[in-house]
Amino acid sequence: MPVFVEPEFAAHERIVFATDRTAGLRAIIAIHDGGRGPALGGCRMWPYADDAAALRDVLRLSRGMTYKAALSGLPLGGGKSVIIGDPRTDKSAALLRAMGRAVGDLGGRYIVAEDVGMTASDMATMREATRYVVGLGPDQGGYGDPSPFTAYGVFVGIQAAVEFRLGRRRLDGVRVAVQGLGNVGFHLCRRLAEAGAALLVADLRDDLVGRAVDAFDATPVSGDALFAADADVFAPCALGGVLNDDTIPRLRARIVAGAANNQLAETRHGEALRRRGILYAPDYVINAGGLICVAAEYLQSPREGVARQVEAIHDTLHDVFQRADRLGRPSDHVADRIAEERLRTGPTGAVAA
Ligand code: NAD
Repeated sequence: MPVFVEPEFAAHERIVFATDRTAGLRAIIAIHDGGRGPALGGCRMWPYADDAAALRDVLRLSRGMTYKAALSGLPLGGGKSVIIGDPRTDKSAALLRAMGRAVGDLGGRYIVAEDVGMTASDMATMREATRYVVGLGPDQGGYGDPSPFTAYGVFVGIQAAVEFRLGRRRLDGVRVAVQGLGNVGFHLCRRLAEAGAALLVADLRDDLVGRAVDAFDATPVSGDALFAADADVFAPCALGGVLNDDTIPRLRARIVAGAANNQLAETRHGEALRRRGILYAPDYVINAGGLICVAAEYLQSPREGVARQVEAIHDTLHDVFQRADRLGRPSDHVADRIAEERLRTGPTGAVAA
């Protein structure tokens, strides 16, 4: 499998292919950049179509973690890991412990947390094999599920975007289309409903849609129609790649601000949004709340301070929007440049304008 010529390869520091025949483990750990500190990032378990798809995913996700940590001002590098397999049928305690050993072999250069297909209890099982694990439940001395903090960050990010683009300081009456009502999407809906926003919602699971309709008086919209819904904000909280040649022309919202990772199918789609006059909150900026939470657990800073740190996403985004406007550049491009500047200047370095 070609690695160094893979388009998602971005001079990653270390890529480890880990196997354990007895436990059935096939995993890849990627450390993109450990210059600012240990590389902290989730472990995703997914039935990838092939090894190349798993490699692409871990390379792209780990690079994103470097940028996310830098823009959030955290003394951490970027890393991520993937386990090839179906979490519903292939996961076992032996497999999780084998993954824990692979993480442990890196001696703290990579700190693992939960991601898609993993739970806090899976982290506890990995913890039996290595101490380089965060995202543990409170019973294990951890800070619990980071999703509510991710949702809170997206909420303050939507506030920043609405202020900037719609000139409104309050969210009452603002129409938000939320795609995906899972761990993050549901918490986000609660916050938005409390702030008086009108919700349009979609999920592949009818039970989750029903729950949002009952709890928040949300309007259900079937699947794909959500892109063209009459909304002020489109909030992707499901999968990546949703902003593409097919969907961008259909969007009626003037703002895209949601939790999903890798929302732009390709980098050029940031410019496509800008040309259509749609304000895009770069995904790794607005969805950093979960990382801020697990970072606090790792750095042993008080859980009580996490919400305050997450609120800083509002001002970071405002800064990104302002610079993008001034330069006439897409917001994701501007966010990348700020992150790269921070990577050059170190954890406490000043950011050039
Ligand atoms: P989740 O799996 O709990 O929820 C995702 C939901 O999206 C599911 O209910 C699923 O049915 C739904 N969905 C999938 N495809 C859909 C489609 N085409 N249309 C409508 N709904 C669809 O995941 P989550 O933890 O809520 O995370 C959501 C997104 O946010 C993911 O992209 C994740 O990578 C990202 N993210 C999550 C966190 C976190 O703290 N959980 C942190 C950062 C980023």
